[in-house]
Amino acid sequence: MTYDPHNIFARILRGEIPCEPIYENEVAYAFRDIAPAASVHVLVICRRAAVSFDDFMQQAPAEEIAAFFASVRQVAFDLGLSETGYRLIANHGADATQTVPHFHVHVLGGEPLGGLLASDRKLR
Ligand code: 5GP
Repeated sequence: MTYDPHNIFARILRGEIPCEPIYENEVAYAFRDIAPAASVHVLVICRRAAVSFDDFMQQAPAEEIAAFFASVRQVAFDLGLSETGYRLIANHGADATQTVPHFHVHVLGGEPLGGLLASDRKLR
């Protein structure tokens, strides 16, 4: 999939759409999800023009990959989630219902999150 430079997260990174970061560095930018799915729901996005996790992992050098995931861990720690627990989600493609074609990791927590998938009713 070709990267669309007009996607909403690309526009946030360029400052075209107001968005208050809760964390940022040279490889990552983090902000609260506009439609939270848990009491804490933050998105950590890469600064690189990558469509998804799959694309990011193919494009980025090892140092950048390490720095990005260290940023995700730092965000979870700063949000106070390390003790109580949190879930990371990175949707790639149609079956995962990825809606924004710019690589991002969801950090979810602040409450018991239930089963892994919405269909895991027995686990809720
Ligand atoms: P995906 O479905 O691609 O994994 O997740 C995209 C996420 O981006 C969704 O949870 C959605 O609520 C969030 N989102 C979409 N547009 C905006 C926006 O303009 N601002 C913020 N803060 N979140 C957004």
